[in-house]
Amino acid sequence: MRNELIAANWKMNLHRSEAVGLARACRTMAATGRNGREVLIAPPYPYLAAVREALEGSPVLLAGQDVSQYAEGAYTSQVSAEMLVDVGCRYTLAGHSERREHSGDSDDVVAAKMRRAFDCGLNVILCVGEKEAERDRGEERSVVRRQIDAALGAVSREEAAGRLVVAYEPVWAIGTGRTATSADAQEMHAFLRGVLAGRYDTGLAEEIRILYGGSVKPANAAELLGANDIDGVLVGGASLDAESFNAIFAA
Ligand code: PEP
Repeated sequence: MRNELIAANWKMNLHRSEAVGLARACRTMAATGRNGREVLIAPPYPYLAAVREALEGSPVLLAGQDVSQYAEGAYTSQVSAEMLVDVGCRYTLAGHSERREHSGDSDDVVAAKMRRAFDCGLNVILCVGEKEAERDRGEERSVVRRQIDAALGAVSREEAAGRLVVAYEPVWAIGTGRTATSADAQEMHAFLRGVLAGRYDTGLAEEIRILYGGSVKPANAAELLGANDIDGVLVGGASLDAESFNAIFAA
């Protein structure tokens, strides 16, 4: 039985007081314990400590939006896995398409970030997804398989068990208002589960949560979450508003 995970990626949004207010709202929301659903927040780095404080004693999980592939040193602007752990994160995202697109995170860099995160005790939400042109060419399966194979090449079965979450986020659906249909998303999630079964085994693949991300809103959340292989959602824009995030959580 996979507990659904409702994850918020705040990206580079909000001011400190807004972040704290939203974290408090998420705390209240999570306390209702809807169907055992877990809630996770990935705030901008400068607000991690304030959000952690606002979440003290609550089950809401804290995550980095990214992690450095390096342990320490002269890497201006980067944040290490140790620092994320130190500030209270249990998770980090890796391979978000905005990192791949705007910051040049290659498959190899994503793999190195996964390695650092697992070595430091973080759980990882690995983001994969095809671009529109790749889907138009019918390459969506080969693209996500390549991303998974590269990122998990050095991740053992023991590390993946209970610590790996995959987020399928078709790039053409992120922040665009376009969402994959629940049938299309389900098909890709089932495919991804098969890829995970091939890499590890069927038992573990059945345990790994696969989230859907890409313009998830209150209006489409219930249908997406109702699909067999969709084990939660990764929400960008709609997570910035307490009411809409709450409606997704309660969908
Ligand atoms: C995301 O950033 O992971 C995302 C899915 O964003 P949005 O919900 O805004 O499409």
